[in-house]
Amino acid sequence: MAHEPSVLIVEDNERNRKLFRLVVESMGCRTRLTNDGEEALQAIEAALPDLILTDIQMPNMDGMKLIGLLKAEERTRSIPVIAVTSFAMAGDRERLLEVGFVDYLSKPIDTEAMQQAITRHLGIDRGSDD
Ligand code: MN
Repeated sequence: MAHEPSVLIVEDNERNRKLFRLVVESMGCRTRLTNDGEEALQAIEAALPDLILTDIQMPNMDGMKLIGLLKAEERTRSIPVIAVTSFAMAGDRERLLEVGFVDYLSKPIDTEAMQQAITRHLGIDRGSDD
């Protein structure tokens, strides 16, 4: 990628937000931080991110509602969205992929797994664009 990829972080827990920011910025990405789905939509309206990392359980608008709205819009449909959630029940991964998330990370997060998922969905480890 020619520019620093921009990653939108959507998470209502401040400690997690800061942790995700550290992990993402250490990869050379720019970040914007939002507290919930409503704030995320406003941020996306202002500028489309290259990738979104979102919590599922949040006040005002949760991650499931957010992904539904993003997938319903032509403009935002192709943005890769990774779910970061404490859900640990069997079948959740399939359900999350079914509604349109490209990947799923469980909390507490494994920073290496988070970086790998971001790298994979941004395609930033493949050398030059060709
Ligand atoms: Mn939450």
